[in-house]
Amino acid sequence: MEVFTSIKGLRSFLDQQLLQQKTIGLIPTMGALHDGHISLVDASTKENDITVCSVFVNPAQFNNPEDLLKYPRTLEEDCAMLERAGCTAVFAPSVEEMYLEKPSLVINFGSLESVMEGASRPGHFNGVGIVVSKLFHIVSPHRAYFGQKDLQQVSIIQQLVADLAFNLELIVCPTIRERDGLAMSSRNRRLNDTERAIAPHIYRILDDAKKRLLSAEDVKTVIQSASEDFGSIKEFTLDYFEVVNVKTLQPVSTIGAPGTNAICVAAFLGPVRLIDNVVF
Ligand code: AMP
Repeated sequence: MEVFTSIKGLRSFLDQQLLQQKTIGLIPTMGALHDGHISLVDASTKENDITVCSVFVNPAQFNNPEDLLKYPRTLEEDCAMLERAGCTAVFAPSVEEMYLEKPSLVINFGSLESVMEGASRPGHFNGVGIVVSKLFHIVSPHRAYFGQKDLQQVSIIQQLVADLAFNLELIVCPTIRERDGLAMSSRNRRLNDTERAIAPHIYRILDDAKKRLLSAEDVKTVIQSASEDFGSIKEFTLDYFEVVNVKTLQPVSTIGAPGTNAICVAAFLGPVRLIDNVVF
């Protein structure tokens, strides 16, 4: 496995591969890898000749300086995991390599970003849009892999690919969970023992809400009792709990056909903000 820190180095490696007609899969990550990330690598190694995983904690998508500062950085372990998973190349650039200057371009995803993560983290999806566009240009992948764990990010990137005619296929992979239901996340490493023990309630409450909605309970009532459920556990501070249309991401008051609904949640456990969702 090759590790590149420069765009030039990675590009010339990939140019060689393209000359040999190799197909390229890209997995953009911020590192501190876990089995959720590795599931994307596995999907890519099955479908492409070359798998490139980027590891870059993108300052442009953080609106909270403490979150950026405390974001776990474990490049050596990440590379070991990626090598075991059969990744071909890691791209781990410095901030200076990715951003010679602060980009002046601003991307606005309209109604897709006016809700949930976009509403709670102003500028977040502009930063995501810029870094993902840069990675797409640098790597020119045939396929790019993203997790459903970040459902709103998936919609944003689908829009980006459509609007800017990126010539690639987006593959969305299911959320990988711990045995107790907690969605795997790099931020889980920041939880203390008490918080980690409580964290699985996020999925428990999501799953409970899904079951109630499927048994035709009213959306408003279900949201209300989920909020009360979070409120009854003092370690949680709920940011949002929304029942939305999976395509538009706008809140719904009634449940649609199977596969068109999502429940999305963001909650703080102490200083750590966790997100999760279920699509049904
Ligand atoms: P991140 O490093 O958090 O930016 O995530 C990199 C990619 O991995 C994104 O496409 C995420 O949606 C995906 N991902 C993160 N956690 C999981 C998970 N638990 N299961 C599947 N994919 C995930």
